[in-house]
Amino acid sequence: MTWLDQSRTEPVRREPDEDPWVRCERCGAYLHRATFVAELKVCRQCGYHHRLTAVERIESLLDPESFEETHVGIAPSDPLEFRSGANPYAEKITETRAKTGLSEAVVTGLGRIESIDVVVAVMDFRFFGGSLGSGTGEKILRAALDALRLKRPYIVVSSSGGARMQEGALSLMQMAKTCAGIGRLDAHGVPYISVLTHPTTGGVLASFAMVGDVNIAEPGALIGFAGRRVIEQTIKQSLPDDFQSAEYLLDQGFVDMVVPRKALRTRIAEILGYARSSKAKEAT
Ligand SMILES: [Zn+2]
Repeated sequence: MTWLDQSRTEPVRREPDEDPWVRCERCGAYLHRATFVAELKVCRQCGYHHRLTAVERIESLLDPESFEETHVGIAPSDPLEFRSGANPYAEKITETRAKTGLSEAVVTGLGRIESIDVVVAVMDFRFFGGSLGSGTGEKILRAALDALRLKRPYIVVSSSGGARMQEGALSLMQMAKTCAGIGRLDAHGVPYISVLTHPTTGGVLASFAMVGDVNIAEPGALIGFAGRRVIEQTIKQSLPDDFQSAEYLLDQGFVDMVVPRKALRTRIAEILGYARSSKAKEAT
């Protein structure tokens, strides 16, 4: 992997590995860490898909050694000099960068999936809840433009609490900006696959995450715009228990498929192969 930004002072951190046991966040089962990691952090008792870091996701999706990180220099901006109580946003950025080894809430790059050249953007929830800041949007847009220039399919894996409130309106602007980039892919026939993982909400859901040629969700992922309580209070009705789950959205036609993590790479490769052969047929 050549994703490491040499200018970073801290390596990307992995989960602390001193405890050989991990407890499932949903069913509470104790899982052997090495097996848990080998099984892509899916609980073998209840099937719960725990969150992956961007690096783990890239390793799980792309061919070994094929990833090359791009746009590493793009970082959050703080035009509002935002602070919440005694905590300036600027300080929180520095802390988060040191803790995660990431410069933004998304990692972008070039790589291959089962030998098919692709451009990827993978969000990391550890970085301000995967929120969409101006740097995040810029990276997602630039990676889309790479896909356009190189005529490679674009795959975005989302995991986000929504817009980054510390950047105010600049954050909201990223919704239109990223969608404009994706729109250019569409106009030029470059496939775009959106993978929605737990959770994909707010401004990310309401922009680039929902406009894939194919929208794929992971089992059990929470996918929605506003929270359940807000909706219930607004419409004064109670919602079904599985409301905003990946399976509910599939049933309602909002996502195209729900694919277990273990099968994701193969399924994406199949879709890309199909897109490629349809294009070849069109050309003849
Ligand atoms: Zn479990």
